[in-house]
Amino acid sequence: MSIVDSECIFCKIVAGEIPCARIYESDTVLAFLDIAPVHPGHALVLPKDHYPTLMDIPSGLGEDLFRALSAVGGAVMQATGADGLNLMQNNFEAAGQLVHHAHFHLIPRFAEDGLKL
Ligand code: 5GP
Ligand code: ZN
Repeated sequence: MSIVDSECIFCKIVAGEIPCARIYESDTVLAFLDIAPVHPGHALVLPKDHYPTLMDIPSGLGEDLFRALSAVGGAVMQATGADGLNLMQNNFEAAGQLVHHAHFHLIPRFAEDGLKL
């Protein structure tokens, strides 16, 4: 039984109701390109089930998420020719969370790109 929030944009993406550029999918995890990338190749990795923040994600999903982060991180670096990679994760509005379905940002970085995260 999936955990879905009918108001959540990422739940709609998981359900295929809103299109996205999917780059990784398993039974429990989905990754797609961010619609407003910091750099081309900026990817989002998330549990398919709706958990509002990092602290709500069951620890049993840790292995699936870590496998996805590693695979997507490698693919993003290879596809973009990046020199580095940031993993970023925001919880609650005070920390910059806009979409309340927990997700991880993988952001390709380039030598001296001047980006301050
Ligand atoms: P947050 O600030 O919550 O950590 O990040 C939310 C991210 O989701 C933002 O980087 C934003 O560009 C991205 N985003 C928001 N709506 C959509 C959408 O409909 N499709 C995709 N692919 N990304 C989205
Ligand atoms: Zn959701």
